[in-house]
Amino acid sequence: MSEIRDTVILGSGCAGLTAAIYTARAGLKPLVLEGHEPGGQLSITTLVENFPGWPEGIQGPDLIENMKKQAARFGAEFQLAHLSRVDLNAHPIKLHTAAGEILTRTLIVASGASARWLGLPSEQALIGHGVSSCATCDGAFFRGHEIAVVGGGDSAMEEALFLTRFASKVTLLHRRDAFRASKIMLERAMAHPNIELRPNTVVVEVLGVEEKDVKGLKLKNVKTGMEDELPVKGLFLGIGHEPNAKMFEGQMDLDEDGYIKTTGNVLTTFGGKAIPGVFACGDVQDRRYRQAITAAGSGCMAALEAEKYLEERGH
Ligand code: NAP
Repeated sequence: MSEIRDTVILGSGCAGLTAAIYTARAGLKPLVLEGHEPGGQLSITTLVENFPGWPEGIQGPDLIENMKKQAARFGAEFQLAHLSRVDLNAHPIKLHTAAGEILTRTLIVASGASARWLGLPSEQALIGHGVSSCATCDGAFFRGHEIAVVGGGDSAMEEALFLTRFASKVTLLHRRDAFRASKIMLERAMAHPNIELRPNTVVVEVLGVEEKDVKGLKLKNVKTGMEDELPVKGLFLGIGHEPNAKMFEGQMDLDEDGYIKTTGNVLTTFGGKAIPGVFACGDVQDRRYRQAITAAGSGCMAALEAEKYLEERGH
């Protein structure tokens, strides 16, 4: 018979590691399943300048490493396992990984959301070197430079508008000439003197792989087939995020885009009823703020709820 854990945390980004620090300090010996993107989105960013307490900023991977050390100091354990299946109806909750079955009284889901990328090799090679999926995180590095944003939804409009605070010019590239963005956001972007909209345009290649720094973009007009180069210092992807919650379909209430629905900030439900002992925090349940500090905050809330749940049941 496997040991029954008090708490398992799914995901090792900001939310999961904060939940690990709190549950570990409460003596719950949490097991953190690191998932397929250990460290989450912060592990692929460079300088983080908006996490309170770091006046000079801190590198994203260092911030994550510090949080991990902090959780480990209080007894959190880490496993690189990837979850293949869960049974949230079972008591204890059953988690299946390639390494075997894990039983736990509480589960904190902090599996995050993954930014969508175009998937070009040159784009992947330059992530953190001029290619970014987070304007709030990286916009300030492009003060006075020309940049491009890809996407035709509200995220892309919001990113483009936000980036005009820093960039001298923002070119908004969209693969069609119809936009998903809400009318008001599209109108704001169109009216901005420093934003140029280029519809029917796709990125063929990001230039600068050899130099390890974005030097420009090779673009193609999908209507005319014409190719040209756009000399920009940065490329921001605003083509949406995918919450990592597919494995909970049919066992947890998800919204129309697959984000976990929560009540009371971090409590999960199925069919509108609370799922005992299962909490969700961070980007997998937050489509609005998506910041390291808000993820950390909700990780703390999930940990406190898990602690309370166990205490009420005499564990
Ligand atoms: P979205 O509405 O799904 O839009 C994604 C955009 O990216 C679409 O224009 C899509 O093009 C494009 N795209 C997707 N994959 C692409 C690819 N491989 N290459 C090129 N283009 C690609 O996502 P979102 O903008 O993140 O918004 C998600 C939800 O959050 C929406 O409900 C939105 O209203 C909401 N949101 C609201 C606000 C706000 O109100 N302030 C801000 C952000 C997000 P196609 O149109 O051709 O498919």
